[in-house]
Amino acid sequence: MEKIASFTIDHERLERGIFVSRRDVTPSGDVITTFDIRLTRPNRDPAARPEALHAMEHLAATFLRNHTQWGGRVVYWGPMGCMTGNYLLLSGDYESRDILPLIKETMEFVAGFEGEIPGASPRDCGNWSFMDPEEARRLARRFLDEVIADPRHESLNYPE
Ligand SMILES: [Zn+2]
Repeated sequence: MEKIASFTIDHERLERGIFVSRRDVTPSGDVITTFDIRLTRPNRDPAARPEALHAMEHLAATFLRNHTQWGGRVVYWGPMGCMTGNYLLLSGDYESRDILPLIKETMEFVAGFEGEIPGASPRDCGNWSFMDPEEARRLARRFLDEVIADPRHESLNYPE
């Protein structure tokens, strides 16, 4: 089988940031943009704890789907299997810069969240106690302070 496109970028050179990983056109002609929201440098920094990305998933998905401007365009938010970040799929053709304010708001929501995680109950989730909200807050805060506050070119564009 052919190597799929996302496995052909050099993961040893990737930085943290917001990256367009693909644009797909559905049979009905709609464009779906897939972003990598990369929180740690692959193979160079420690990956995130899955419990933290799970808590972030519940918080970010809830925030994004309730967003007045973007909510209707959110197709999916969820953790990468390699635990170095998250995928965000949006309906429409976008660049990383277009969603900087949205990701800033999302991470601020996660970083400042107190109380019960939405959907963290046996009825609503398949592994509801597998959560580390404190580590999710710390990851979001670090991404805001070290990446989003002053995004560099390498944090918005994958290496050519
Ligand atoms: Zn869950």
